[in-house]
Amino acid sequence: MVRVRFAPSPTGNLHIGGARTAIFNWLYAKVKKGKFILRIEDTDKERSQQQYVDEILESLKWLGFDWDEIYYQGQRLDIYRQFAERLLKEGQAYEQEAPGAEGAGRPKAIIFKIASEKVKIADIIHGEIEFDTEVIKDQVLIKSDGTPTYNFACVVDDAAMQISHVIRGDDHISNTPKQVILYKALGFPLPQFAHLPLILGKEGGRLSKRTGATAISDYRKMGYLSSALFNYLLLLSWSPGGNREVIETEEAIRLFDIKNVNKTSATFDMDKLNWLNNQYLKKADPEKLLEQLLPSLADKGYIQPDNFDRDYLIALVKLFQARLSTLNDFADWADFFFIDEITPDHEAKEKFLSQDFSQEFKLFLDRLDALESFDIHSIEVSFREMVIQLNVPAKALIHPIRVALTGKTIGPGLFEVIYYLGRERTKRRLLRWIKRS
Ligand code: GLU
Repeated sequence: MVRVRFAPSPTGNLHIGGARTAIFNWLYAKVKKGKFILRIEDTDKERSQQQYVDEILESLKWLGFDWDEIYYQGQRLDIYRQFAERLLKEGQAYEQEAPGAEGAGRPKAIIFKIASEKVKIADIIHGEIEFDTEVIKDQVLIKSDGTPTYNFACVVDDAAMQISHVIRGDDHISNTPKQVILYKALGFPLPQFAHLPLILGKEGGRLSKRTGATAISDYRKMGYLSSALFNYLLLLSWSPGGNREVIETEEAIRLFDIKNVNKTSATFDMDKLNWLNNQYLKKADPEKLLEQLLPSLADKGYIQPDNFDRDYLIALVKLFQARLSTLNDFADWADFFFIDEITPDHEAKEKFLSQDFSQEFKLFLDRLDALESFDIHSIEVSFREMVIQLNVPAKALIHPIRVALTGKTIGPGLFEVIYYLGRERTKRRLLRWIKRS
């Protein structure tokens, strides 16, 4: 039975690297019909915080994970101590007083004696890795404050929780020989190891805030879809071949094979994430997108939270969704549907409205007024007739009208914009640019 675990330390939010590790563990469990276990490594009392536990669980749920079991190391301190005392009794470990402590009942650390040997690790991704323990110092198992070290608690738990595969980031590769020695000393069977390649920032270095090391919850706030982020993180270190990029979770479960995980480090590329997010936004159900957009639209004062026209908003979402990189782009692109006082940016005005269009706008206004049916097709037909009548190319007027109506030089089709703005709002906005003679 495959049993894998994701073991975050709640000393910070769930970040890109952690989420990627979680994805690979979760997927492996799904593929092998095994169990995915969550272990909160909260033995560092000073740095661990409940708020981070909550945030990590929330982010994992948002990414679509479920877990079969959850453990908190902070509740298992007795177990670690028992095993450390066993090693002490067997002469494999020794006690050491905390420096500076004096008097009876001084706190003592329990330390494991490292013998010099060669440790071989069969890594699923990297193949065989050999370590010489000569360079490894004796290992603290239990610190003088009574808490276990990471390596010790990790081994005790991975064995107790019958973890079959330890899948984690390459940054832990130097811990693995220390852990293997402890498995052997305790007589535990070894799990299989798979170390995932590092994720680097665009300039090659570690991920920084600027290059994407932001919390998963921040990506959510920035308007990324969990499905797109999941897909992106998966692609960072794995590919199904054939240049396929858009792989939904269900399909990933069908195609995933841990043996195909890349050995080399991956580069976090925000442009690629934006591209992928757009792919998911394009095909998303507009009603579902709207549900996610409502709070921010209400926050911005674009809609009344308890009184809005749902069908109208869904139509607007449909109008924009193919061109969004993030959900948050919607409010920026579509703002002119919600704000009446639109001000075109300087450049747009210079480029398309520096000339006087009073006559043309007036003509168009009258045409809109005369339309029996105010629908997208009729608006377009009327506009096309007008440019023929004026003997100007369509774009000579499309751009100025667009800037007058939306304040922007690009956006959805003009006739759709006019239709959804409605006759009155369109007229009012055009009127602002008509000089009284
Ligand atoms: N708590 C460790 C971490 O956050 C877990 C490492 C492991 O998976 O063994 O990096």
